[in-house]
Amino acid sequence: MQGLMMHQPLLIAGILRHAAKWHGSTEIVSRQPEGGLHRSTYAEAYDRARQLANAFARLGVREGDRIGTLAWNTHRHFELYYGISGSGAVCHTINPRLFVEQLVYIINHAQDRLLFFDVTFLPLVEKLAPLCPRVESWVLMTGPEHLPATSELPNLRDYESLLAAETADYEWPTFDENTASSLCYTSGTTDQPKGVLYSHRSTLLHSYAAGLPDAFNCGAQDVISPVVPMFHVNAWGIPYLAPMVGAKLVLPGPGLDAISLCELFENESVTFSAGVPTIWFGLLQYMRETQRRFGTLRKMIIGGAACPPALLYAFANELHVEIRHAWGMSETSPLGTVATLKANQATLSAEAQFEALASQGRGLFGIDMKIVGEDGQELPHDGEAFGDLLVRGPWVAADYFGSLTPGQLTTNGWFRTGDVATIDAAGFMRITDRSKDVIKSGGEWISSIELENQAMAHPAVAEAAVIGVPHPKWSERPLLVVVRRPGYEGITAEELLSFYDGKVATWWKPDAVEFVDQLPHTATGKLLKTQLRKDFANYALA
Ligand code: ADP
Repeated sequence: MQGLMMHQPLLIAGILRHAAKWHGSTEIVSRQPEGGLHRSTYAEAYDRARQLANAFARLGVREGDRIGTLAWNTHRHFELYYGISGSGAVCHTINPRLFVEQLVYIINHAQDRLLFFDVTFLPLVEKLAPLCPRVESWVLMTGPEHLPATSELPNLRDYESLLAAETADYEWPTFDENTASSLCYTSGTTDQPKGVLYSHRSTLLHSYAAGLPDAFNCGAQDVISPVVPMFHVNAWGIPYLAPMVGAKLVLPGPGLDAISLCELFENESVTFSAGVPTIWFGLLQYMRETQRRFGTLRKMIIGGAACPPALLYAFANELHVEIRHAWGMSETSPLGTVATLKANQATLSAEAQFEALASQGRGLFGIDMKIVGEDGQELPHDGEAFGDLLVRGPWVAADYFGSLTPGQLTTNGWFRTGDVATIDAAGFMRITDRSKDVIKSGGEWISSIELENQAMAHPAVAEAAVIGVPHPKWSERPLLVVVRRPGYEGITAEELLSFYDGKVATWWKPDAVEFVDQLPHTATGKLLKTQLRKDFANYALA
């Protein structure tokens, strides 16, 4: 017997329709790449998304066609999210920090028909265009006054003129909620990038879950500023969540340095933000140097890479901002786990509570997870056993876009994350490593993340990475690579290594320390350990 409820597909356009109708005057504030601050509302964004949809119809865009974006977090990028997906096309967000060869591969693989880009990326786009012949038209996301006088770009036009030629009279089409809505390629540090193809249904379910109290906990009283870019994993779903709950949206554009962020947060009364640890380290340092405190910011989500406990501690105790540590990946839309306490942990000591909050957290309803050993057998939730982390759920990828080996991404309905983790009795998951970063010493695993976290708590350490280097007896031993904080040039390897005493098992302690000026990072700001391993491939331990 079927339920007798209305058959209304979960579609992305419905989110902005809701925001325009019930939160129409709520603001979207956006720093523009061409300069200046732009103010609009959900009502205006809704009209402009419909003008865009009319423009796509005129340009012959059909359901399922991919439309690319190379853009910062701005109001125009927000409008594109809705105009593209709402009209049934696929919003393909592209990470401008990737290498040109990767960008060319991605644009050609996705077969983008139109490509929207910010003024910042004009020089980049001029390199890409001759290598991406399928792109029919390049659209500069600004007004006609910023169009270059001459350009080789095929059918170059500007965003504002494209919109100005259309009315907002548009009926969003209704289609199956499993229709593709957006596409994002993983950085692909080793292989070619792989496309994760989200659906309307997965996006809406993910947005509902992200808003829950134990996840982002956002509502209409919030002012949300996603620092995590809209060009990578849909800014963790915030461009959907904010209008869904009617929160004011503050988009930082290209200004991701500490001074610009702090100014924007204060001027716009931001209450909630989200981003990777590197950004928040910069902000923390700035707040310390200037002895400033946030007026309204109360909560931040940190994820995308392990959040060093020292960062969590400093934000909570010095700046009085709650940091929630979250784990996820492109293939999980990205939200998988968030660290918040349960009622029965209220009586634990402050240290025990902090330990739980520093973990990657608990699975949300919608994400099931397990850890398995090398034999594929499930491992116990004792906080000790570590194994490969497998997940499944309605917003987890079942396959990659255009995969040459369809049906092989999952095993018995589970997706192998490539992370190694423990799960404790209370259900808190801790990532110990990317499986390819695991250090195996004498057959036992050493967690590089744990060693990095400990090092980052030392005042002399600006950034730390731990990799395995060859060892004749133990096969591999950990090497600590450190960027020193200014003023600490005199710190010695011995001093740093003795900092581990009593904090980790003696056999986990790195064998040596190397000081470097900077560490290599991926396009999404994560440590690029493949490069580091190459740099230290012939490292001889004393
Ligand atoms: P890419 O695969 O393109 O680098 P993702 O953004 O999908 O990008 O990265 C996902 C990976 O980032 C995870 O599999 C995990 O290794 C790492 N990661 C994400 N969040 C955390 C976290 N809170 N702690 C530790 N690692 C994390």
